[in-house]
Amino acid sequence: MKIFEPQTLQALKEHCARDGSPVLSVYLNIDPTLPVNARGGYKTMLGNMLEKIERSVEKDDQLMKHFSEDAEWVKSRIDVLIPRGKTYVAFCDVSEDFYFEEEIPIRLPNAIFYEDTPYVRPIMEAMDEYERYGVVLLDREKARFFVVMFGQIEEIEDAINIPPVRHRKTAGTDHMRSQMVFQRRSETWNTWFLKEIGERLRDLVTEYNTPHLILMGPHEVTSEFYRLLPKALQEKVIDRLRMAVKAKAQEVLEAIAPVIECRERFIEDQTVEDLVTAAQKSGETMEKALLGLNPVLSAINQGRVYMLVYSSGFTTNGYYCPKCEVILDHVPENELCPYCSSSLERTEDLVWLASEKVLASGGKVEEVKSEQAKVKLDVNGHIGAFLR
Ligand SMILES: [Zn+2]
Repeated sequence: MKIFEPQTLQALKEHCARDGSPVLSVYLNIDPTLPVNARGGYKTMLGNMLEKIERSVEKDDQLMKHFSEDAEWVKSRIDVLIPRGKTYVAFCDVSEDFYFEEEIPIRLPNAIFYEDTPYVRPIMEAMDEYERYGVVLLDREKARFFVVMFGQIEEIEDAINIPPVRHRKTAGTDHMRSQMVFQRRSETWNTWFLKEIGERLRDLVTEYNTPHLILMGPHEVTSEFYRLLPKALQEKVIDRLRMAVKAKAQEVLEAIAPVIECRERFIEDQTVEDLVTAAQKSGETMEKALLGLNPVLSAINQGRVYMLVYSSGFTTNGYYCPKCEVILDHVPENELCPYCSSSLERTEDLVWLASEKVLASGGKVEEVKSEQAKVKLDVNGHIGAFLR
């Protein structure tokens, strides 16, 4: 998840533009669980998108030559790719020897840009939209910091670097007395140490944009640490869990997974609850939300959907117009697009196309997995939308 690290993103944003040397930015949906991609559909998609850019630069020989070599590089990478993530992201400018590529575990809309600098906006938006969690794992001598998002964990090395307590030999004859002094000093030191971590944490939360915190470590340490935290940080803490400070990142992830899972399901329950209420309340004049496939599709076609919400696993056949990109759940009698009269094409997964269209128009898509929320959404037509 390099691209989601502030340093990487910053470096990409600061990539110096050079005259006549644009950067090719590629966002390609490669999700291997999709039937169309299993048959290599993403390669066709890439070809189509590259052709569009090609048509816009072909009049300029210099630019065309420049574009061709960038396009060739991306194609050669995609040819050998064995998809694991959901979206392939690449930025390249062959003439400048500039290459970046990564598979990310979330779905972003297919898009290609050929501009002076890497087009990172979809990444920034994803970072805003998805829940990010900061994890502090600590004991009395050491603290570690992790960022968790999209079900993956990353340790930020040396994020909290405070030298461990020094067990100095105390000079003095009265052994008992020096023990006591040491203990008292050590207590003060402990408090100081935990406060220091709290201070450092304040910066990390801002830097890594983690609105939720999970504290991990021996119970008495996390509870004291929590008590010493500034109120603003205390409010971000969603849970405390026991864990050894030397734990592997994967162990940390496994331990917090149920906490995150539970939180995400709770948010889904909330979303579906709001959706159904808003749709039932919506009057003819002030429509805020819709339920059911047909009304949702027409709202999408009109570009009115702000958030599409659908029950996980719900899919259906349908039609789309390759020319004006309208999507339909049933075909009109003459089998032509009602908007532009082109021939319609069939799709096996209309919900997928609908999501793609919503994402492309800057909207959001919520796939509901919570059992409780699914039941509620299913009795209300499996799919719904909040309107702009
Ligand atoms: Zn059409």
